[in-house]
Amino acid sequence: RPEALPEPEGRDEVAALIRSLNRMMARLEGTWQAQTQFVADASHELRTPITAILGHVNFLLRRTPLTEQQRESLEVIARESERMKKLVSDLLELSKSGSWKIQMGPVHVLTLLEQIQEDYARSFEGRIELEAPERLWVQGDPERLHQVLANLVSNAIKARATRVRLVARDVSAGVVIRVEDNGEGIPAEHLSNLFERFYRVDKARDRERGGTGLGLAIVKNIVEAHGGRVWVESTVGKGTTFSVSLMRATAPQPQLH
Ligand code: ADP
Repeated sequence: RPEALPEPEGRDEVAALIRSLNRMMARLEGTWQAQTQFVADASHELRTPITAILGHVNFLLRRTPLTEQQRESLEVIARESERMKKLVSDLLELSKSGSWKIQMGPVHVLTLLEQIQEDYARSFEGRIELEAPERLWVQGDPERLHQVLANLVSNAIKARATRVRLVARDVSAGVVIRVEDNGEGIPAEHLSNLFERFYRVDKARDRERGGTGLGLAIVKNIVEAHGGRVWVESTVGKGTTFSVSLMRATAPQPQLH
């Protein structure tokens, strides 16, 4: 976000112009914050009724003798409520992400990747492979970076990948972490819009898979808040690679007692 200019001392026209620009910036900042707060409040308020709906639907699904049609109908309500819950929590994440203060510290890359591998060990039937130098550290917030990688891996799994590789490399400009999958791939015409909010490649298919179209927008916000970049390469029928660049960190010194 643009920042206000230093307050000028003079009384000339340029100084007057700068003061007037600064007043305008302050007003814009206020509007922006009010809008962010509104989205945050609205998503927070929506959580309670959705949780109640889900609780009651699941109760009915478990307890009642149901006709086939009734069951199907309740299952649709349950599925759509789950989607709404995800949408609301993604919206909340996104509304907060503009104002995140990232707690930067050294993060050990291999440990981060191993945690992701472990998270998906049970639910994913395919393989997650790792390749990272032992002594590689990046500047970042471990929870936020975990969120980025988990998002990318779960997208790969949704795209029917059977193999996901997490590769970290020490490059001259910093560190690049890649999430490579052998899933369906993404047609070239979609690649430039992929990180936009609510953008989905195939609306009907992605709806069914429980997507909200917000995952990659959140990923981009987090990575950029770290001063990094994220980009994608893909070939239909072969797979997709997301790359995240981050700043290198030096390993923390062991404490001497
Ligand atoms: P969602 O929350 O719906 O998954 P995302 O913002 O994470 O939304 O992804 C946007 C779109 O990009 C989705 O429509 C999804 O189909 C596509 N996509 C993301 N990652 C991959 C991948 N690894 N392989 C194929 N398609 C992907």
